[in-house]
Amino acid sequence: MPATAKPPEKMMFQLSLRRRGISDQAVLRAMEEIPRDIFVEPADRADAYRDSALGIACGQTISQPFVVAYMTEQLQLQKHHRVLEIGTGSGYQAAILSRLCSHLLTIERFRTLADSARARLKKLGCDNVEVMLGDGFDIPASAGNFDRIIVTAAMEKIPDALTQRLEPGGILIAPVGPHQSVQTLIRVIRTDAGLDRKGLVDVRFVPALPGIAREL
Ligand code: SAH
Repeated sequence: MPATAKPPEKMMFQLSLRRRGISDQAVLRAMEEIPRDIFVEPADRADAYRDSALGIACGQTISQPFVVAYMTEQLQLQKHHRVLEIGTGSGYQAAILSRLCSHLLTIERFRTLADSARARLKKLGCDNVEVMLGDGFDIPASAGNFDRIIVTAAMEKIPDALTQRLEPGGILIAPVGPHQSVQTLIRVIRTDAGLDRKGLVDVRFVPALPGIAREL
């Protein structure tokens, strides 16, 4: 099967992102350039350009394209930014981010997912991405601080340990709310006055769980 989708599907993909309000040209370009079909399961290739989440290995999901684009847009990325992603999953969101920042550290608790995402990102030439097997609730101090943090798994609350990793002026985006239900996408900005917190839209993400996953 060819790695690229038929042009009409990709045209509709761009159109539906624009229709739903994504207007940042750099984000739209990244969404156009990164082939989503290589991040989905082979059986789902035909559905890769539909605006829906799909199942991947280890019972996890690749997020809906609109949500990927929306979260990326809300991060207001600049080329010099150091970015942290918690929840590598397929690596799709990481590939989009890699086009828009200087360095991305992405952390995944399943070794199977971390390994396959790393291989895909390498194949795409996303050389500024480091995929780490680890726990987003326990990030090594040596990783330093970040200009932007994106969490792509649902957290019941945003840990202080995470907001403390934000550089001044930094932005964090995370789905916050009960597991197995609807969450709210929360944006936190570190300002001189403290943390500025705002609810954006309702979303559904798989849960963020502590520790490295035990795999069979
Ligand atoms: N961003 C992904 C979608 C992520 S699904 C993509 O573009 O495909 C959420 C992912 O978060 C899952 O793979 C899950 O295993 C991972 N995850 C959950 N809790 C985590 C934690 N504490 N640390 C790191 N990864 C975590």
